[in-house]
Amino acid sequence: MTIEKQPSCEDPSDPDLLPVAEALARIEGVLPSLLDDVNQHEVLALQRCLGRVLAEDITSPIDVPSYTNSAMDGYAVAGANLPSSGEKDYQVIGTAWAGRPFNGGTSESEAVRIMTGAMMPDGTDTVVIQEHVAVVSETQVLIGSDTVAGKNVRQAGEDVQAGQVVLHKGEWLGPAQLGQLASLGVDRVAVTRQLKVAYFTTGDELKSLDQHAGKTLGPGELFDSNRYTLFGMLSRLGVEIQDLGIVRDNPEDTREAFKKAAASADVVITSGGVSAGEADYVTRIIHEIGDVAFWKLAMRPGRPLAFGKIGDAVFFGLPGNPVAVMVTFYEFVQPALRSMMGASLVQATTLTAQCQSPLRKSPGRTEYQRGIMEIDSSGQVIVNTTGKQGAGRLSSMCVANCMIVLPPGQDSIEPGEMVEVQPFFGLV
Ligand code: AMP
Ligand code: MG
Repeated sequence: MTIEKQPSCEDPSDPDLLPVAEALARIEGVLPSLLDDVNQHEVLALQRCLGRVLAEDITSPIDVPSYTNSAMDGYAVAGANLPSSGEKDYQVIGTAWAGRPFNGGTSESEAVRIMTGAMMPDGTDTVVIQEHVAVVSETQVLIGSDTVAGKNVRQAGEDVQAGQVVLHKGEWLGPAQLGQLASLGVDRVAVTRQLKVAYFTTGDELKSLDQHAGKTLGPGELFDSNRYTLFGMLSRLGVEIQDLGIVRDNPEDTREAFKKAAASADVVITSGGVSAGEADYVTRIIHEIGDVAFWKLAMRPGRPLAFGKIGDAVFFGLPGNPVAVMVTFYEFVQPALRSMMGASLVQATTLTAQCQSPLRKSPGRTEYQRGIMEIDSSGQVIVNTTGKQGAGRLSSMCVANCMIVLPPGQDSIEPGEMVEVQPFFGLV
């Protein structure tokens, strides 16, 4: 008897492998969006809107700033009358404070002491900063020729004009957007409701921290870590989470868990059990109760991925390996959840970096290797590998600050070659 080899995850030339971009396109093509249905919107006070998606365009009712004001502490004068050379005597006729305007006009050789944010007095259009003024007495200053007319002044409406659409439906609300809304006097806005996401992990080998924290593991057992990475990744996205625990590798428990999850959530996420092994009950049960495709992705880590629907709920069956869970989550689930919340799609930021380490790779799949990037003394972005890249090595995710994304056609990388990196963190 001879063994006829079946395609496997060891075989990058398997013709059935689905490219990452193709999988993303198929997912995006069928996702429902909360933005399209006004019944899925709610009006909330600003402080409850962080991380939500705006469900309406916001038109400014006012100019921001609403009055022309000083950008510096100094002296307000008429720019046209500034000396073109030498120095000129000015009489200081009063003070303008932020919130306490100077009432009255100014003439050619008069100045008003002015503080940052104070309204520009009538007849003035320029602020000479106090560092450029010689104070002769409380009512007399000398001003030189080094200030350009119009300098150090913020014009009314220079940030936002009344009637302008400032934020658009579908925009994600971060700290800057909350501040922007507040600056317009807008205290409540319509946003899409929170997405409900239920998740569970599968595996007879898993021990839950709920009962086994600090205890020793028996032979063949391991602590369930995927439920904690899923908790973290989902919480960061601001969705409402429902943790359904560990589900054992048998058809009854798996069926029960799916029914419960799909009845209450918009999205169901599982880890493990989506390969072709005998204990992979997710694959079997979902064929029975859902409309789901099982893909062999042309990526590493993270080859098996299930995607489809169970009733009205969208389903993602992620692989079991801890790094594969995180990589498939960030590449597929996160953009999908954002799109369901109604957020306009934002491509993940990528940079080009010079790779300092040799990286092993065979052509055929997109690889997401964990890297540590930094900027060297010459200003070049460089990246080093975190070391061994097994899909079970969660420690590689903890020390990494980026993914090194190697496209399907790429083979091994020599030190000095340029690679694409996806940083883990954005600033705002
Ligand atoms: P599976 O896809 O169920 O065959 O799992 C693939 C690998 O991931 C196995 O080595 C599992 O033990 C491991 N694994 C599955 N689920 C978890 C989990 N929740 N936490 C940590 N490791 C897991
Ligand atoms: Mg399993």
